[in-house]
Amino acid sequence: MDFQVKYYGTRGSIPVPGRDFEIFGGNTTSVLVMDKDTVIIIDAGTGIRNIGADLIKWGLAGKKDFTVHILFTHSHWDHIQGFPFFVPAYFPNIHFHIYGATKLIPRKPELQQPAENIKTDRWDIKKTLSFQQCFQYFPVRIDQMSAHFTYHEVTPGSPLTIDHIKVDTLHLNHPNESIGYRFFLTNGSFTFCSDTEPSPESNENIIRFADKSNIFAYDSQYLPEEYENGKKGWGHSTYMVGAEISRRASIKEYHLIHHDPAHNDKFLIDLQEKASLEFPASTVIREGMEFSF
Ligand SMILES: [Zn+2]
Ligand SMILES: [Zn+2]
Repeated sequence: MDFQVKYYGTRGSIPVPGRDFEIFGGNTTSVLVMDKDTVIIIDAGTGIRNIGADLIKWGLAGKKDFTVHILFTHSHWDHIQGFPFFVPAYFPNIHFHIYGATKLIPRKPELQQPAENIKTDRWDIKKTLSFQQCFQYFPVRIDQMSAHFTYHEVTPGSPLTIDHIKVDTLHLNHPNESIGYRFFLTNGSFTFCSDTEPSPESNENIIRFADKSNIFAYDSQYLPEEYENGKKGWGHSTYMVGAEISRRASIKEYHLIHHDPAHNDKFLIDLQEKASLEFPASTVIREGMEFSF
């Protein structure tokens, strides 16, 4: 494999099978980042099922003491729903390092116990993923998956180190908060900012965060007119904002991701033309695309 970044799912919100989506693909967010021997997956949308199939096909999943790092931007369904179907998680020889933010969720007044005075519930990434696999929703619990799991808390704004790779993190403007990641790989950097709504403050933060990245992948779910007409507050952005950030941050390549489930292939081909006029090095990402630098 000579790629550093490969997209296995670029759809937002919900998977969309069907003929109208076969060029750009219908799987939800999951991206494989590989550098030297380090394997990182961003999010576990339905695309992660095919990452699992490839890791097995390439013989990596059968290696003794194989390690995979999975970083979650946040825990909305389109970013976690593929995890129960990620076959390497059932391999006892694999060690997964799972990274995600901990959320403190206000407890409803009727559930508060005066004696305990507990006003918030703590949802770390382990608890969040575990609930997706409780009995009502899936037959196998996460602690019944055979791989080894180590969980790591991410505090947006604090960097991580994964093997030789420094990873910067950023708070993104999204309901229940999303995390942006910037990976400093051997030959350049890859910045991934999905699920984020524009605001003057957030845009400036992203411009600083992504400065001079080789690749900048950015939530481009809506056209500006869609955003203005009913999608404000839904937590997503537009290609016009992505192009503006790319210009101001001197990005080499801008990747449009998190396609709206209502946007079929024809719509996204038109979007490619529109985006290229704003920022020539724009690519509306199709499932299966891979990039190296
Ligand atoms: Zn999403
Ligand atoms: Zn989301």
